Amino acid sequence: MANVLWLQGGACSGNTMSFLNAQEPTVVELIVDFGINILWHPTVGLELGDQVGNLMKKCISGETPLDIFVFEGSIIEGPHGTGTMNYFAERPMKDWVRELAGVAQFVVAVGDCATYGGIPAVDPNPSESTGMQFLKKNKGGFLGANFVAKSGLPVINIPGCPCHPDWVSQILVAIATGRAGDILIDEYHRPKTFFSTYVQSGCTKVNGFANKIEGGFGKKGGCLFYEVGCRGPMTKASCNNILWNRWSSKTRANHPCLGCTEPGFPHHDLKPGSVFNTMKYLGVFPKEVPDGDSKLGYYVKAGVEKVFSNSKVGSYSK
Ligand code: SF4
Ligand code: SF4
Repeated sequence: MANVLWLQGGACSGNTMSFLNAQEPTVVELIVDFGINILWHPTVGLELGDQVGNLMKKCISGETPLDIFVFEGSIIEGPHGTGTMNYFAERPMKDWVRELAGVAQFVVAVGDCATYGGIPAVDPNPSESTGMQFLKKNKGGFLGANFVAKSGLPVINIPGCPCHPDWVSQILVAIATGRAGDILIDEYHRPKTFFSTYVQSGCTKVNGFANKIEGGFGKKGGCLFYEVGCRGPMTKASCNNILWNRWSSKTRANHPCLGCTEPGFPHHDLKPGSVFNTMKYLGVFPKEVPDGDSKLGYYVKAGVEKVFSNSKVGSYSK
């Protein structure tokens, strides 16, 4: 049995909606088969008002062991560091978060807002939002760079906007079944098992990428990197291997990857022209190139490949 408390800060509930659609395993299987005991959750919890406050106080006092503390949404510190923009159970939510994180065996941040600040933390960040242990790429965030939960692990970050439900349900299973030692995390605290490969791995449009064939938003065929800003080659996530609803992914649905599992999301702070658009120098050279390539190296390689693929198309059509 593992007690789970799930709270929300600066959140749209998107990660909760995603989580409720988990399939491998489902939320019901988590409870029935894997011993997850959800102490409270803002959407499905039965307790109200003082009952929730008392439940959290019991966790903090140790009367109720808190095995896994899940947080969704940004930590709101505004205005002026008081956190009173996000009041919950008669105190700023951030104060509950600090105390609950201090007694939990494991702390799990779900979604981009809880992990890295996400959309609420976009400049000028009026709510003074931050992530649990990062603000964008910078380690620290609300709990500080040196925070570790009682288990000895720092905050386990499961980013995404929203994150894939099975990433969450499988991490909860690993913890509840005593396999937390298998959870290896990367420099941004993402479990490597889900975030070692790029979204491009498994993308059905990769042939178009290799041959520099332009696709388009909502259009079958071609690759979404060249015109509509797909970030698949720069984004670590398993979206094209662990499919959404066991069926599809953004790029399979002809929608560019927005790079939501990277700490820079939303990239370029949503500046006009940065979304659904490949930003280019001189209208030709992409400003961002696939991870692992230098810009110059990529431009030279891409130019040669483009010429080569055009000549192949020409010779095939003869
Ligand atoms: S750039 Fe995007 S659409 Fe193109 S192959 Fe990579 S992931 Fe697929
Ligand atoms: S395809 Fe890209 S934007 Fe979509 S969920 Fe995966 S990482 Fe996020």
